[in-house]
Amino acid sequence: MSDTAFSSLPLSQPQLDALTSLGYDSMTAIQAETLPWLLKGRDVVAQAKTGSGKTAAFGISVLNSINPRFFGVQALILSPTRELAEQITSELRKLARLMPNIKVTTLCGGKPIGPQIASLEHGTHIVVGTPGRVNDLHSKNCLKLDQLKVLILDEADRMLDMGFAEVIHHIIDQTPESRQTALFSATYPDTIQQMSESIQKSPVSVKVISEH
Ligand code: ADP
Ligand code: MG
Repeated sequence: MSDTAFSSLPLSQPQLDALTSLGYDSMTAIQAETLPWLLKGRDVVAQAKTGSGKTAAFGISVLNSINPRFFGVQALILSPTRELAEQITSELRKLARLMPNIKVTTLCGGKPIGPQIASLEHGTHIVVGTPGRVNDLHSKNCLKLDQLKVLILDEADRMLDMGFAEVIHHIIDQTPESRQTALFSATYPDTIQQMSESIQKSPVSVKVISEH
Protein backbone atom coordinates (compact mmCIF):
# COMPACT_ATOMS: atom_id res chain seq x y z
CA MET A 1 0.00 0.00 0.00
CA SER A 2 1.40 3.40 -0.90
CA ASP A 3 2.03 6.26 1.55
CA THR A 4 -1.15 8.31 1.92
CA ALA A 5 0.43 11.57 3.18
CA PHE A 6 0.21 14.37 0.60
CA SER A 7 3.65 15.46 1.87
CA SER A 8 5.11 12.26 0.36
CA LEU A 9 4.40 13.74 -3.10
CA PRO A 10 6.64 16.22 -4.92
CA LEU A 11 4.23 19.16 -4.38
CA SER A 12 4.97 22.82 -3.69
CA GLN A 13 4.33 24.33 -0.26
CA PRO A 14 1.36 26.42 -1.53
CA GLN A 15 -0.22 23.24 -2.90
CA LEU A 16 0.29 21.38 0.40
CA ASP A 17 -1.05 24.36 2.38
CA ALA A 18 -4.17 24.54 0.19
CA LEU A 19 -4.85 20.84 0.83
CA THR A 20 -4.48 21.35 4.59
CA SER A 21 -6.85 24.33 4.52
CA LEU A 22 -9.42 22.22 2.66
CA GLY A 23 -9.21 19.61 5.44
CA TYR A 24 -7.66 17.02 3.14
CA ASP A 25 -5.49 15.32 5.74
CA SER A 26 -4.49 12.29 3.69
CA MET A 27 -4.97 10.91 0.20
CA THR A 28 -7.98 8.78 -0.66
CA ALA A 29 -7.18 5.41 -2.24
CA ILE A 30 -7.56 6.59 -5.83
CA GLN A 31 -5.40 9.65 -5.11
CA ALA A 32 -2.67 7.52 -3.51
CA GLU A 33 -2.70 5.08 -6.44
CA THR A 34 -2.74 7.63 -9.28
CA LEU A 35 -0.97 10.80 -8.10
CA PRO A 36 2.59 9.40 -8.01
CA TRP A 37 2.20 8.31 -11.67
CA LEU A 38 0.39 11.42 -12.82
CA LEU A 39 3.02 13.67 -11.24
CA LYS A 40 5.70 11.71 -13.15
CA GLY A 41 3.86 12.53 -16.36
CA ARG A 42 2.61 8.99 -17.03
CA ASP A 43 -0.67 8.24 -18.78
CA VAL A 44 -3.18 6.70 -16.37
CA VAL A 45 -6.48 4.91 -16.81
CA ALA A 46 -8.29 4.90 -13.48
CA GLN A 47 -11.49 3.35 -12.26
CA ALA A 48 -13.08 4.23 -8.91
CA LYS A 49 -16.61 4.76 -7.75
CA THR A 50 -18.36 8.09 -7.32
CA GLY A 51 -17.29 10.05 -4.25
CA SER A 52 -13.79 8.58 -4.09
CA GLY A 53 -11.94 11.86 -4.75
CA LYS A 54 -11.14 11.56 -8.44
CA THR A 55 -11.36 15.34 -9.04
CA ALA A 56 -8.48 16.15 -6.70
CA ALA A 57 -6.53 13.14 -8.04
CA PHE A 58 -6.26 14.70 -11.49
CA GLY A 59 -6.70 18.30 -10.27
CA ILE A 60 -3.56 18.33 -8.10
CA SER A 61 -1.51 16.91 -10.94
CA VAL A 62 -2.96 19.30 -13.53
CA LEU A 63 -2.14 22.33 -11.32
CA ASN A 64 1.36 21.01 -10.85
CA SER A 65 1.97 20.84 -14.60
CA ILE A 66 1.00 24.45 -15.39
CA ASN A 67 3.53 27.15 -16.17
CA PRO A 68 1.67 30.30 -14.99
CA ARG A 69 3.95 32.59 -16.99
CA PHE A 70 2.72 31.14 -20.27
CA PHE A 71 -0.85 32.19 -21.09
CA GLY A 72 -1.92 29.37 -23.34
CA VAL A 73 -4.21 26.41 -22.72
CA GLN A 74 -1.91 23.83 -21.14
CA ALA A 75 -4.55 21.49 -19.69
CA LEU A 76 -7.96 20.39 -20.97
CA ILE A 77 -10.44 18.51 -18.80
CA LEU A 78 -13.45 17.05 -20.61
CA SER A 79 -16.58 16.27 -18.61
CA PRO A 80 -20.00 14.91 -19.68
CA THR A 81 -22.22 17.69 -18.28
CA ARG A 82 -22.19 21.39 -17.47
CA GLU A 83 -22.89 20.72 -13.78
CA LEU A 84 -19.91 18.38 -13.48
CA ALA A 85 -17.65 20.79 -15.38
CA GLU A 86 -18.65 23.60 -13.00
CA GLN A 87 -17.91 21.36 -9.99
CA ILE A 88 -14.48 20.51 -11.38
CA THR A 89 -13.69 24.20 -11.97
CA SER A 90 -14.77 25.03 -8.44
CA GLU A 91 -12.58 22.27 -6.95
CA LEU A 92 -9.60 23.37 -9.08
CA ARG A 93 -10.00 26.95 -7.88
CA LYS A 94 -10.03 25.76 -4.26
CA LEU A 95 -6.93 23.63 -4.82
CA ALA A 96 -5.23 26.60 -6.55
CA ARG A 97 -6.22 29.28 -4.10
CA LEU A 98 -2.63 29.82 -2.99
CA MET A 99 -1.53 29.80 -6.65
CA PRO A 100 -3.41 32.96 -7.70
CA ASN A 101 -1.74 33.27 -11.09
CA ILE A 102 -3.41 30.18 -12.48
CA LYS A 103 -6.55 30.80 -14.55
CA VAL A 104 -9.30 28.22 -15.09
CA THR A 105 -12.05 28.66 -17.72
CA THR A 106 -15.27 26.64 -18.05
CA LEU A 107 -16.60 26.03 -21.59
CA CYS A 108 -20.05 24.45 -21.55
CA GLY A 109 -23.15 24.36 -23.67
CA GLY A 110 -26.35 25.91 -22.31
CA LYS A 111 -24.48 29.13 -21.47
CA PRO A 112 -23.83 32.17 -23.69
CA ILE A 113 -20.74 31.69 -25.82
CA GLY A 114 -19.64 35.38 -25.75
CA PRO A 115 -18.16 35.46 -22.24
CA GLN A 116 -16.46 32.13 -22.91
CA ILE A 117 -14.79 33.58 -26.02
CA ALA A 118 -13.77 36.69 -24.03
CA SER A 119 -12.25 34.53 -21.30
CA LEU A 120 -10.18 32.64 -23.90
CA GLU A 121 -9.06 35.93 -25.47
CA HIS A 122 -7.83 37.14 -22.06
CA GLY A 123 -5.67 34.05 -21.79
CA THR A 124 -6.16 31.01 -19.61
CA HIS A 125 -4.17 28.01 -18.44
CA ILE A 126 -6.78 25.32 -17.82
CA VAL A 127 -10.01 24.66 -19.73
CA VAL A 128 -12.77 22.52 -18.22
CA GLY A 129 -15.60 21.80 -20.60
CA THR A 130 -18.14 19.60 -22.29
CA PRO A 131 -17.04 18.02 -25.60
CA GLY A 132 -19.60 19.81 -27.81
CA ARG A 133 -18.79 23.36 -26.69
CA VAL A 134 -15.03 22.72 -26.57
CA ASN A 135 -15.13 21.44 -30.14
CA ASP A 136 -17.30 24.36 -31.20
CA LEU A 137 -14.86 26.94 -29.79
CA HIS A 138 -11.93 25.12 -31.31
CA SER A 139 -13.52 25.08 -34.76
CA LYS A 140 -14.29 28.82 -34.41
CA ASN A 141 -10.53 29.31 -33.82
CA CYS A 142 -11.15 30.72 -30.33
CA LEU A 143 -9.56 27.79 -28.51
CA LYS A 144 -5.99 26.78 -29.35
CA LEU A 145 -4.96 23.29 -28.35
CA ASP A 146 -1.52 23.15 -29.93
CA GLN A 147 0.30 23.89 -26.62
CA LEU A 148 -1.67 21.33 -24.63
CA LYS A 149 0.40 19.35 -22.12
CA VAL A 150 -2.33 17.44 -20.26
CA LEU A 151 -5.67 15.99 -21.32
CA ILE A 152 -8.09 14.53 -18.75
CA LEU A 153 -11.26 12.65 -19.62
CA ASP A 154 -13.43 12.66 -16.49
CA GLU A 155 -16.42 10.31 -16.27
CA ALA A 156 -15.19 8.83 -19.54
CA ASP A 157 -17.77 6.02 -19.37
CA ARG A 158 -20.63 8.52 -19.20
CA MET A 159 -19.22 10.59 -22.06
CA LEU A 160 -19.12 7.46 -24.24
CA ASP A 161 -22.67 6.50 -23.17
CA MET A 162 -23.82 9.97 -24.20
CA GLY A 163 -22.40 9.46 -27.70
CA PHE A 164 -19.41 11.83 -27.41
CA ALA A 165 -16.80 9.36 -28.73
CA GLU A 166 -16.50 10.90 -32.19
CA VAL A 167 -16.27 14.50 -31.02
CA ILE A 168 -13.74 13.53 -28.32
CA HIS A 169 -11.55 11.85 -30.94
CA HIS A 170 -11.85 14.93 -33.12
CA ILE A 171 -10.73 17.19 -30.24
CA ILE A 172 -7.83 14.86 -29.42
CA ASP A 173 -6.67 14.97 -33.04
CA GLN A 174 -6.05 18.72 -32.54
CA THR A 175 -3.72 18.19 -29.55
CA PRO A 176 0.03 17.44 -29.52
CA GLU A 177 1.08 13.77 -29.55
CA SER A 178 3.44 14.56 -26.67
CA ARG A 179 0.57 15.25 -24.26
CA GLN A 180 -0.11 13.32 -21.06
CA THR A 181 -3.55 11.66 -21.15
CA ALA A 182 -5.52 10.41 -18.14
CA LEU A 183 -8.87 8.71 -18.24
CA PHE A 184 -11.11 8.55 -15.14
CA SER A 185 -14.19 6.42 -15.00
CA ALA A 186 -16.58 4.81 -12.52
CA THR A 187 -16.92 1.67 -14.66
CA TYR A 188 -14.59 -0.06 -17.13
CA PRO A 189 -16.53 -1.36 -20.14
CA ASP A 190 -14.77 -2.59 -23.33
CA THR A 191 -15.39 0.80 -24.94
CA ILE A 192 -13.17 2.49 -22.31
CA GLN A 193 -10.46 -0.12 -22.90
CA GLN A 194 -10.64 0.59 -26.66
CA MET A 195 -10.53 4.34 -26.14
CA SER A 196 -7.54 3.98 -23.80
CA GLU A 197 -5.69 1.92 -26.43
CA SER A 198 -6.34 4.48 -29.14
CA ILE A 199 -5.41 7.66 -27.21
CA GLN A 200 -2.91 6.68 -24.49
CA LYS A 201 0.75 5.66 -24.38
CA SER A 202 1.65 2.75 -22.06
CA PRO A 203 -0.96 3.77 -19.49
CA VAL A 204 -0.75 2.73 -15.86
CA SER A 205 -4.03 1.00 -15.07
CA VAL A 206 -5.50 1.61 -11.61
CA LYS A 207 -8.66 0.13 -10.17
CA VAL A 208 -9.87 0.93 -6.68
CA ILE A 209 -12.67 -1.36 -5.52
CA SER A 210 -13.41 -0.15 -2.01
CA GLU A 211 -13.11 3.41 -0.81
CA HIS A 212 -10.15 4.60 1.33
P1 ADP B 1 -15.51 11.57 -7.49
O1 ADP B 1 -15.13 12.45 -8.65
O2 ADP B 1 -14.64 10.36 -7.37
O3 ADP B 1 -16.97 11.20 -7.52
P2 ADP B 1 -15.05 13.92 -5.90
O4 ADP B 1 -13.78 14.32 -6.52
O5 ADP B 1 -16.26 14.67 -6.29
O6 ADP B 1 -15.30 12.36 -6.14
O7 ADP B 1 -14.84 13.95 -4.30
C1 ADP B 1 -15.83 13.59 -3.39
C2 ADP B 1 -15.68 14.41 -2.11
O8 ADP B 1 -14.49 14.05 -1.41
C3 ADP B 1 -15.61 15.90 -2.34
O9 ADP B 1 -16.47 16.53 -1.42
C4 ADP B 1 -14.16 16.26 -2.04
O10 ADP B 1 -14.04 17.57 -1.53
C5 ADP B 1 -13.78 15.22 -1.01
N1 ADP B 1 -12.34 14.88 -1.02
C6 ADP B 1 -11.55 14.64 -2.09
N2 ADP B 1 -10.30 14.31 -1.71
C7 ADP B 1 -10.28 14.31 -0.36
C8 ADP B 1 -9.27 14.04 0.62
N3 ADP B 1 -8.04 13.67 0.27
N4 ADP B 1 -9.61 14.14 1.93
C9 ADP B 1 -10.87 14.49 2.28
N5 ADP B 1 -11.88 14.77 1.41
C10 ADP B 1 -11.59 14.67 0.10
MG1 MG C 1 -16.07 13.03 -10.34
